[in-house]
Order: sequence, then C-alpha cells, then structure tokens
Amino acid sequence: MKIVTVVGARPQFIKAAAVSRAIRGDAAGRVQEVLVHTGQHYDSNMSAVFFEELGIPAPAHHLEISGGGHGAMTGRMLQALEAVLADEKPDWVLVYGDTNSTLAAALAAVKMHIPLAHVEAGLRSFNMRMPEEVNRIVADRVSTLLFCPTQVAVENLRNEGMTHGVHLVGDVMFDVSLYYRDLARRSSDAVQRFGLEEGGYVLTTCHRAENTDDPVRLASILGALGELAEELPVVLPVHPRTRNIIRERGMADVLGKVRVVDPLSFMDMVRLEQSARVVVTDSGGVQKEAFFYQVPCVTMRDETEWTETVDLGWNQLVGADRGRIVAAVRGARPPAGPEARPYGDGAASQAILQKLLG
Ligand code: UDP
Repeated sequence: MKIVTVVGARPQFIKAAAVSRAIRGDAAGRVQEVLVHTGQHYDSNMSAVFFEELGIPAPAHHLEISGGGHGAMTGRMLQALEAVLADEKPDWVLVYGDTNSTLAAALAAVKMHIPLAHVEAGLRSFNMRMPEEVNRIVADRVSTLLFCPTQVAVENLRNEGMTHGVHLVGDVMFDVSLYYRDLARRSSDAVQRFGLEEGGYVLTTCHRAENTDDPVRLASILGALGELAEELPVVLPVHPRTRNIIRERGMADVLGKVRVVDPLSFMDMVRLEQSARVVVTDSGGVQKEAFFYQVPCVTMRDETEWTETVDLGWNQLVGADRGRIVAAVRGARPPAGPEARPYGDGAASQAILQKLLG
C-alpha cells in the first residue's frame, strides 16, 4: 500500500513523526510512505531540526511554497500537490491538523478521488474567524477516515452528521510525549543553558493570528509578559511570524525583561516545558504538552479545542486581557484530584496504521 503524507508546518512534523515511525516499524513492511513537504514552514529551526531530532525520513517531494496570503499559498499548494498525486498514484493521502497544507492536500485528494485520512479530525473551536477552523472543517468533510484524538472530537463530528469512518484513536501528540519525555530530560541541557531553575520560570509562546494580527490583543499580551518578567524569568521562543510583527510595529520595548529567543528545537522545548512553573501559550500543541508534563497552563485564547485540559483543572482560558493573564499566572497551581488520561493510551499511531491497512 502506498500512502502520500503531506506536511508543511512545525506541529505537523511532530505528529507525522509518530505515525511515520509506526509505519516504518511494521515488520511486514506493508506500507510505503511518500512524504511531501509543502514548504509552509521553511526556517531550519522551524523545519529541518524536527526532521533531524525526530528521525523523520527526508521528504520525497519538497514543494517550497510559503508566504503570501491564504489564497495564494493554498492555491499554489493545490496545484503542485495535484501533480505529485498524479505522479505517485497513492492508495491514501494522509494529512494532519488544520493548516493551509492540510486544506490543499484534502482538496487535491478528494478531487482526484483518492481516499483521504485526517489525523486530529473533529476538533472544533466554534470560531470561524480562525483560519484553522475553516481548514479542519473542510478536511473533515472530505475525509474517508477521520482519526479523532478525543471523545469530544467524535461528538463534534456526530453533531455535524459525520459518523462513517470516524475512529477514536487517541492523540498522536500523547504518543510523542511518552516517547520523548525521558529522552528530552537526558539529551537537552536547555534549563541550565538558559540559566533557569527547576519550577522557577514561565515558558511562553504566541503565534495565533487572532493574537498577532490584532494590535490591541498583541500589546496586551506583550504587556502582561513584560509585567510577569519583573517577577520571575519569562522565556519566549518567538515564532517567526510574531517576531516580524513585533519588529514591524516597534513593540519590542513592551516586552521589557522577557527573554526572547529563537524557536527552540523539539528537545529543548519539551525540556523547558517539563520544568516550567507555568506555561503561557496560544498554541494547541503546547497546551497539551503542558498537561502531559503536569505543568499548569494559561491559554491566551477565548476558546480551546482541548477542553479536557480545562475541565481537569490544568488549563485556564484568559483571552488576551493583560490583567487576567497576569493574575492567572500568579495563581496557577496543579489541581488536586486523580490523574486522568483523556488523550488515549499512547498507541494512537499504531491504531491509525491498523485502520489504514484495513
Ligand atoms: N515547539 C517547538 N519549539 C518551539 C515552539 C514550539 O518545538 O520553539 C513545538 C511544541 O513543543 C509543540 C509544537 O511545536 O509540539 C506546537 O506547534 P505550534 O505551537 O507551532 O502549533 P499548534 O500546536 O498551535 O498548531
């Protein structure tokens, strides 16, 4: 069986690494995976480092498409992917998450009558202003196999009338966290390298368009981080898009003592997550990793797709309000109560492989 996997952005490399490892681990070698990198994320610290650290095979096709508006980027990807699929003639196209690369691959596959499998199906923020929400709804609608990470995702699909081909497999990011938690402790010296103390700093990321593209929200977020940095170290591995906007708008001063660093390798990021006092983020993956490593999280969004983290008391949703962000970080504590595992048993990648094999 031949599968074309389409990835393009940082979180997709991480998720695809888990499934790709399962495919390569299949003793019978039943699947040939052809990896396509659209080029959406291209900086070496947003792309190449993940292929190296996570042992992902080099892409068979690199489309080198990045930048431009959503329409231009998605359109160029769609055109290029059609050519790749015509050439490769796969049995399945496999996509992850909710980026423009996901959308383009989904459209290319369905129009060429190639069955599509979507990992992270059924997630919803119910906020159609988010480009990610549009991408995931379209991808789900045209998928043959919908791999849901959570029961909530299954119910979201049911509410939209989708039950056929829907499988609750668990979250591949949880698989990843189990695989890398000890490895990161052993192989990354990020805590010492940054001069930090165990449990004595805030780790923060910010890249969602709803925050970066809204000057009022961004100023409020940067102001909150600057205020917190007066009290304890705040480390911000800055996403290229956020870095550019901060520079263009001349907002760097607001950050005060925040330690702004380049995007971290995956090992360093996991290592810093594990020992942070609080994680402050608008990232989907980082919210969940904080939960996996039992670190309280403050989420700078108005809603989350990962509602389990909030329900279990590990995550607070505070929007972009400066006062709420600061107060939530100051008050963040691990919740009492038994450990819950809403993201599966760590074998999502295997379950996905088995379903693909039919
Ligand atoms: N990540 C990383 N280095 C960084 C920031 C994030 O390795 O400097 C990882 C993080 O650990 C998580 C993933 O990137 O696994 C999340 O990606 P991102 O926040 O870009 O996207 P989202 O999860 O919001 O779709």
